[in-house]
Amino acid sequence: MKHYTTVTIPEYEKKKLINTTCDICGKAIKTLPVNNNDIEEVIISYEKGVALPEYDESVKLTVDMCADCFKVEFLRWLKTKAKTFPQYQQCEY
Ligand SMILES: [Zn+2]
Repeated sequence: MKHYTTVTIPEYEKKKLINTTCDICGKAIKTLPVNNNDIEEVIISYEKGVALPEYDESVKLTVDMCADCFKVEFLRWLKTKAKTFPQYQQCEY
């Protein structure tokens, strides 16, 4: 779950993301410092719609999940359901 606070800016107010908590355990999802080269990120989402150059309409459901819940809770559940279990792949950047 993303938690927002309202900040006052001289001409207008806008929502500013202050932290994201895990939808499973409720703990804050750690973010790494900008200049850190380490990577640990969980991305789980579903998107459906139409995406054309002149027309774009879609909906997206995103799950905020910490790395611990992904590695323990989600993978444990997936092992009970999946006919084939996904394997780690080398990332290329
Ligand atoms: Zn969690």
